[in-house]
Amino acid sequence: MVADCVFCKISAGEIPAEIIYQDEEMTAFWDHRPAAPVHILIIPNRHMDSLNDASHEDAELIGKLVLKARELAVDQGIDESGYRLFINIGPDGGQTVYHLHLHLMGGRRLPIFHG
Ligand code: 5GP
Ligand code: ZN
Repeated sequence: MVADCVFCKISAGEIPAEIIYQDEEMTAFWDHRPAAPVHILIIPNRHMDSLNDASHEDAELIGKLVLKARELAVDQGIDESGYRLFINIGPDGGQTVYHLHLHLMGGRRLPIFHG
């Protein structure tokens, strides 16, 4: 738990969020400014600033986050229509919250990304 980290506070239940899944390792909740009909964030409960802070010991955890995202896509009924799973890392990557998170986005045709 990192003081002043909004996602640590969400996973600890200290600030409200629309949590749709939580276990001892991860929390998934709706983005408060959804950019698509489905826009869910999946985070490890343990604080990591970004993917740059993950080590090989975190490989299983990161795999679980990805598979949970797929499961949530099925739950939301967007697995067949398709969805996007992405991680923003650092300033050039557009990261604004420095607690590692996966974006799960879908429910509409997303623009092809050319960078
Ligand atoms: P980033 O740009 O760091 O990849 O994405 C951060 C995401 O977190 C943004 O899509 C933003 O809308 C979302 N976000 C930031 N603060 C909060 C919050 O307090 N609650 C929720 N539910 N989402 C947040
Ligand atoms: Zn945090």
